[in-house]
Amino acid sequence: MTGLDSAAAAGWIRRAAELVSADVERLTRLDAAIGDGDHGHNLDRGFTAAVAALPEPGTATPGRTLIAAGRAIVSKTGGASGPLYGTALRRAGKAFGDAGEVDAGTLGAALRAALDGVQELGQAAEGDKTIVDALAPAAAAYGTALEGGGDLVTCVQAAVAAAEKGAEATVPMQARKGRASYLGARSAGHLDPGAASTVVILRALADTVNK
Ligand code: ADP
Ligand code: MG
Ligand code: MG
Repeated sequence: MTGLDSAAAAGWIRRAAELVSADVERLTRLDAAIGDGDHGHNLDRGFTAAVAALPEPGTATPGRTLIAAGRAIVSKTGGASGPLYGTALRRAGKAFGDAGEVDAGTLGAALRAALDGVQELGQAAEGDKTIVDALAPAAAAYGTALEGGGDLVTCVQAAVAAAEKGAEATVPMQARKGRASYLGARSAGHLDPGAASTVVILRALADTVNK
């Protein structure tokens, strides 16, 4: 795949819903350790709503498709993660503009815009043990791969690999944002659920562009 059309954008959301649904128990277990144990269920509900809100095939641009999904996630997902992921998808959709097919450069800009949206809303920096610890390295690695002449698939794969590494690096961190921060030093030694779910959502994108 060299560009993301509206069918692929919708395919990404559907694949994310599938992967989240298959991972509900693990995400919830991660959140039970340092939060309130609802992360898997929050996201499952959110992505189910996002799939239901997808425009009829052939009626919307990739941008409008992600904006519709993001809006549904904001309105249907409880917890901190709903507004954050919903904002991320809406910002990514806006960054797509009116393109009928999104190229590798525009997808990189959209990942950046998603990260900016998450940080504006949540005020988390890298190292705070949040979604940002997976999404920031993913956006950066995507950009580096793009500058190196990588195509869409290569760039997305680089983003996934960096997100996986970034998520893993949250284990020793002490949380400074969200519910886990209430635990102070006891939040260390656990994988952050939001960083883990960011990996899942980016893997869904990789599965979609690899088709
Ligand atoms: P809640 O904690 O409100 O129950 P969730 O369990 O759905 O919400 O999501 C928790 C995840 O949200 C955390 O693991 C963390 O990655 C992410 N998160 C929380 N606060 C922030 C923030 N300010 N910025 C970025 N991510 C955050
Ligand atoms: Mg929670
Ligand atoms: Mg909660």
